[in-house]
Amino acid sequence: MVSDRQIFFRNLARTSEFPLALEIEKASGCWLYAPGGKKYLDLIAGVSVSNLGHNNKTVIEAIKKQADLHMHLMVYGEFIQKPQVRLAEELCRLLPENLNTVYYTNSGSEAVEGALKLAKRFTGRHEIIAFNNAYHGSTAGALSVTGNEDLKRAFRPLVPSVRHIEFNSLDSLREITAGTACVIAEPVQGEAGIVLPDEKFLGLLRERCSETGTLLVFDEIQTGFGRTGKLFAMDLFGVTPDIALFAKGFGGGLPLGAFVASEEIMNSLSTNPPLGHITTFGGHPLSCAAGLASLKLINESSITDNVNITGELFRTLLRHQAIKEVRGTGLLIAVELESPRLVKKLIAGAMEKGVVTDWFLFNEKCFRVSPPLIISEDETRHACNVLLESLDEID
Ligand code: PLP
Repeated sequence: MVSDRQIFFRNLARTSEFPLALEIEKASGCWLYAPGGKKYLDLIAGVSVSNLGHNNKTVIEAIKKQADLHMHLMVYGEFIQKPQVRLAEELCRLLPENLNTVYYTNSGSEAVEGALKLAKRFTGRHEIIAFNNAYHGSTAGALSVTGNEDLKRAFRPLVPSVRHIEFNSLDSLREITAGTACVIAEPVQGEAGIVLPDEKFLGLLRERCSETGTLLVFDEIQTGFGRTGKLFAMDLFGVTPDIALFAKGFGGGLPLGAFVASEEIMNSLSTNPPLGHITTFGGHPLSCAAGLASLKLINESSITDNVNITGELFRTLLRHQAIKEVRGTGLLIAVELESPRLVKKLIAGAMEKGVVTDWFLFNEKCFRVSPPLIISEDETRHACNVLLESLDEID
C-alpha cells in the first residue's frame, strides 16, 4: 500500500525541497500526535496561528454551532451575517477608535493586497514604501512589498512604485514624502528573525506619515492576538496605524484575515469603481464564529500574563555556549546560533526528541520559539531542556 508520506511527496506540490514532513494525526493543547502515538511539543503553533492551543473546546463548539445554522451564503459584503457582524463589533471595540471598519479576507496576503489598494485609492498616490527584510506574503502585491530580493527576483516584474527602506533607521524616514500613499510595516519584524523596533522608531514613523499625509499600515498578521504579550503589538508600542492587518491567529485555527481602517478611509473602496475590491469567501461564517470565540477567550482570560511569564522563562533558560542571542517579546522569539548548519541540526535533533521548531524565512541563523500562548511553565521547562540537550549533542 502506498503510504500517506509517499503520496505527500508524489501528489502534493512542494514549497521547498526540505519540508519538515512530520505526519500528524491529531493535536491537543500544545501537543501534536503522530500516527504511531509519538507526541511532539509544538513550538511553531502553525506559525503563530494556534494561539489558544490546538482543538480548543470552546472554539470547536462555536464552529459546530455555526455549521448547524449555515456555512457560506453569499459573497462578502452583501448579506447581513451574525458571525461577521459580532466579530467586527468585538474587534473594533478592542482596537483604537479610528480602526472601526473591518474588511474580511481569507488570508494575510489578501489583507495586504486589500490595504495596498485602499491606500492608493484613498490618497490618490501610487508610491508604496516597505522595509527591508519584511515579510508580507506570497501573492504578487504582498510579494512586492516583501523586503527580500532572493524571494522576489524570479517573479519580476512585480507591482511598480514600491520602494524599500531600512527598518529602525531614522534617516530613511526622510524618504517618505507627500507622494507616498502608504508605508507598510510589521511592528516587530517576524521572518527577519524577530527584530524589535528601536525605542522611538515606530513613533517617529507615525509622525513622518502624519506630516506627509501618508497612511501607516501595520501588518499585525504575526504579532496580533496576544503573541507579543499584549493583545496587539500596537498596544505594546503605543502607536496607532491608519490601517491594521490581521490573519493567522485571528480565525482561531480557521482561515481568516482582515484589513481594518476608519470608516472614512474604508468607504473610498466601495465607490468609483463600486465593487473595486471583492471576495467570495472573505469572512466565512465558520471562520468568524471561531475567530469571535477565540478573541473573547484571549481577551477575557489571563493568557497575555502567561505569554509574558513563559516568554521570560524561555529567555532565561535558553542559555548555552552555542546560543548567540535570544530575541523577542512575549512568545514571539528567535534564538540565534552561530551558523545555519547548527540551526538545521538543532531542528532535526529536537524533532527526534519530540520538540518541533523551525527556521525563519530571512534569517537562517535563527530558530523559532512561538508556541501556543497557553504553554505551561512545565512545558516551557521541558522544551528548553530538550533544546539545550539537542544543542549539546550537535557535533
Ligand atoms: N504578513 C506577515 C507578517 C506574515 O508573517 C505572513 C505569513 O507568514 C503574511 C503576512 C502572509 O499571510 P498568509 O500566509 O496568510 O497569506
